[in-house]
Amino acid sequence: MATMGGQPVLILKEGTQRTRGSEARRTNIMVARIIAETLRTTLGPRGMDKMLVDSLGDITITNDGVTILKEMDIEHPVGKMIVEVAKTQESEVGDGTTTAVVLAGELLKQAEELLDQEVHATIIARGYRLAAEKAREILNEMAHEISPEDEEMLRKVAVMAMTGKGAEKAKEHLAEIVVEAVQRVREGNEVDRDLIKIEKKAGGGIEDTELINGIVIDKERVHPGMPRSVKDARIALIKSALEVRKTEVDAKINITDPNQLQAFIDEEERMLRSMVEKIKASGANVVLCQKGIDDLAQHYLAKEGIFAVRRVKQSDMKKLARATGARVVTSLDDLSEKDLGYAGIVEEVKIGDDEMVFVRECRDPKSVTILIRGGSEHVVNEAERAIEDAIGVVAAALRCGKVVAGAGAPEVEVARKLREYAVTVGGREQLAIEAFADAVEAIPRALAENAGLDPIDVLVELRKAHEESPDYGYDVITSELKDTFSAGLITPVNVKTQAISSASEVAVMILRIDDIIAAGKLEKEEEGEKPEMPSMPEF
Ligand code: ADP
Ligand code: MG
Repeated sequence: MATMGGQPVLILKEGTQRTRGSEARRTNIMVARIIAETLRTTLGPRGMDKMLVDSLGDITITNDGVTILKEMDIEHPVGKMIVEVAKTQESEVGDGTTTAVVLAGELLKQAEELLDQEVHATIIARGYRLAAEKAREILNEMAHEISPEDEEMLRKVAVMAMTGKGAEKAKEHLAEIVVEAVQRVREGNEVDRDLIKIEKKAGGGIEDTELINGIVIDKERVHPGMPRSVKDARIALIKSALEVRKTEVDAKINITDPNQLQAFIDEEERMLRSMVEKIKASGANVVLCQKGIDDLAQHYLAKEGIFAVRRVKQSDMKKLARATGARVVTSLDDLSEKDLGYAGIVEEVKIGDDEMVFVRECRDPKSVTILIRGGSEHVVNEAERAIEDAIGVVAAALRCGKVVAGAGAPEVEVARKLREYAVTVGGREQLAIEAFADAVEAIPRALAENAGLDPIDVLVELRKAHEESPDYGYDVITSELKDTFSAGLITPVNVKTQAISSASEVAVMILRIDDIIAAGKLEKEEEGEKPEMPSMPEF
């Protein structure tokens, strides 16, 4: 609202709230910092877990940055921007979500100190952009090349991504599974993550998690008269229903003679029988149908000893086609022997309380399944997140073909080289670049703190070691300074570059906001209490 000659002039809608200048900036920075602080304690192999209880009382116990943020249901617009950072990190490279958020919070904390020293936000933004670009260069320089065939290295990358998660105990086993799965489905350096199907069933132990060279479908066979397992399966994938189609329009059929009714039923039977005949003629002994299968057709199929599953998901049909080499046929008339796929065995197995269909032992499958087992629903879910992370990083490692040493090594190296670079830039930007370097070092500091070590001692040791080699990190599990690259603590370089990029972008974006204009809520607020906007999230 403005005033003109004492008359109020309404510019914005009633109920709109506005916060300006440094107040807006400080509120935004505070929101980002609080979120970053929340995640900070979960960082690294010695990080703690969070227990999240949603409005329905469902519990999630996790250490995974992006999962925590999603479950927290953050309201504040700046909070949402931070959540986006984690989501982008997750979808781009599959790991490093906590790092990205902690870094964003730290960059803003450092920026606040510069603002207090009267450095203008625009200068800080420029300095941060320069620093981020330089940091990516430094990371690429210190990276080591890795070949897609080097499974040993890829397994290390996977183990590293799972360290500190719920799946900790079985990480070697899971890493092996993940790398094998990725090797099966990758084409050159590209991995389509959709081709690795993940099924989970509580029960057993995490060590029982297995890789199936084929697809697992959470369904059972349609008829108990069918064989439970079929060896040397020749598989037909059928898109249409094995049913007699109902008329499209409401039709009335006048029957004048009981024989006609019988003829009608006979005709239906004949059609179903002929469908089964066509399947049999193709040589198939397994039918996986995307639509329904009529009771009578089920009966005929069972009589022929054909194993059948109905209402298979469309997404599974695609994977089945890639795993078995079958072609999905739309019409039974098209079905011939060359459309069939192959699997060494198709069987129905009881897993926990449910029956599942396993299409196993496919030849050179281009799509595979990881069946996750674990003591409880929570364990299975956390193992799933760990496996997703591991698949993501192995894929990321293949894509960029480069890895860096972990355990604080890249951060200390970036900070060191950035400080050298800052001097060459000079001016007030130099302050911003140095602040960026300090922010990056918050990662090794947090890793040490979370492991109960003295962060200053660790940092001093690391800085000293980096005068010799960029591969020195601090293993917080064994509490020792070492060449973490040789020790096999490695991460794809793009996990680090992506974290730097997205954290610095969001920090700059938040710094540049000096005015928040928020529309009033649509529904009527309770009388007497109008919340201040922007309101702080409550944790
Ligand atoms: P994020 O969501 O960012 O991946 P994590 O909780 O997975 O967060 O922690 C990843 C960090 O832990 C990385 O910086 C990695 O280098 C570090 N890290 C992993 N293993 C070790 C270790 N043994 N010692 C020290 N740091 C480690
Ligand atoms: Mg991680």
